[in-house]
Amino acid sequence: MINETMLLTCPACAWEFEGASDETISYPCDESLDACPQEIRFCQQCGLGVAYPLLSDEQLEKLYQKGQYWQDSETKILTAREYPGRCAVAQAQWKFISIYLNNQGNKKEISVLDVGAGQGFLGMAAAKDKQLRLERYCAVEADPYLRGSLIKTWEKSFSYVRFEASESVSTLEGTFDVVILSHIIEHLPDPKMFLKEVVGRLNPDGVLFVDVPYQDYRFKSNVFPHLLFFNEENLRKLFKAVGLRAEVVERFGKDGAKAFINSKGTSPKEKLIVRIVYKLRKWLPASFSVWFFDRHLGASFRNPQGIWIRALAKRSEGRKSL
Ligand SMILES: [Zn+2]
Repeated sequence: MINETMLLTCPACAWEFEGASDETISYPCDESLDACPQEIRFCQQCGLGVAYPLLSDEQLEKLYQKGQYWQDSETKILTAREYPGRCAVAQAQWKFISIYLNNQGNKKEISVLDVGAGQGFLGMAAAKDKQLRLERYCAVEADPYLRGSLIKTWEKSFSYVRFEASESVSTLEGTFDVVILSHIIEHLPDPKMFLKEVVGRLNPDGVLFVDVPYQDYRFKSNVFPHLLFFNEENLRKLFKAVGLRAEVVERFGKDGAKAFINSKGTSPKEKLIVRIVYKLRKWLPASFSVWFFDRHLGASFRNPQGIWIRALAKRSEGRKSL
């Protein structure tokens, strides 16, 4: 059972949680999982939700380092047709980053570090961006099969970009204009150390992109393995704690209850249509499937009630005084 004497320190604002008196809810979880946190405790100072008890380092390693997270067992060419939902989200994310870069206006050749790159669709969106030239793309991905698939895909389709796939950030050289953390930091028990390492990989004028779910415990029956639950305020606080200043913080996606196929807010008709399009995706034009999932998820829909927080941040010491 939960050991009430274990203290938690808020990773965003350093508030000391005091045990039973904290605001808590039970952790939405699939009961077949054996190592699930039991509660989400909320910081009284900044509102950050923290899973409790936190997973041990051993449990976390088992989850992400053994090639089990994506459950691939072979390498393959990664296509929008196979993953239309992921592609739609990545394209919307890149548009958000690209608009900011274009408004900054000074650099057209860019390097991108994508940590936890998954299928690398954010990199592909950057490579296809006509407003700038992707010169270097480094995908950090723990899954060895996925790394193999990324190498295959980039050799075949994006040979004009200097591409590297790596198991960890530490083996890569140099600094980057854009560092991407898409759906990464909500998985980390204390993201400060990791964020500091990543901030060290930003060029002086480089920009960090972060995308996290917004309070997904409100509408998902299983949030495992998410460990942190952000809002805009505590995300800004976390940035500040690691020497970053938020440039843009916005909410995207549909309203929570309507956003997921398994949620109560989705009508049976819509669920059926989503299932059919997904099943038929190999025979449908990829551009249609991507468009369909963009609409279904609201991936590019700016919405104050949306399910994702997207943020761009720069080093605070790197800023020119206003
Ligand atoms: Zn806090």
